[in-house]
Amino acid sequence: MFKVEEFLTKIEEQEIVSAIKIAEKNTSGEIRVHIESTSKIDIYERALEVFSLLKMGATKDANGVLLYVAVNDKKFVICGDEGINNVVSKDFWDTTKNAIQNQFIKGNFKQGIIDGILKAGEELKVHFPWQTDDEDELSNEISKG
Ligand code: CA
Ligand code: CA
Repeated sequence: MFKVEEFLTKIEEQEIVSAIKIAEKNTSGEIRVHIESTSKIDIYERALEVFSLLKMGATKDANGVLLYVAVNDKKFVICGDEGINNVVSKDFWDTTKNAIQNQFIKGNFKQGIIDGILKAGEELKVHFPWQTDDEDELSNEISKG
């Protein structure tokens, strides 16, 4: 069993925060990462719950994206606000999911999260390009359950 605190080192966490900053230079979309040990309910429902708990619906263009990781369940979910879901195709997140999965199966958790963030940034850029008046609407820090 992993403890959430042991899942990533402080340095790895900072690398992830840096990746979020890089991704958000390409898009007005706001990306957040939430890590917890296990989900007691269905993982998709839990991801939506966390999205709500983190008040991620509070973006101007409804373009917040949550990467939710349940460490001990070895599961993750990536989900976006309705502003994204309204404009993208159903398989929009597949490349992002694959990028994460490719690293997770090798046990490279930090790299999986970083690859996912950067890929999500590229995907989001198409529909939500960065604008000069962009604000950092949601914290880039990792949230832990
Ligand atoms: Ca922003
Ligand atoms: Ca942000």
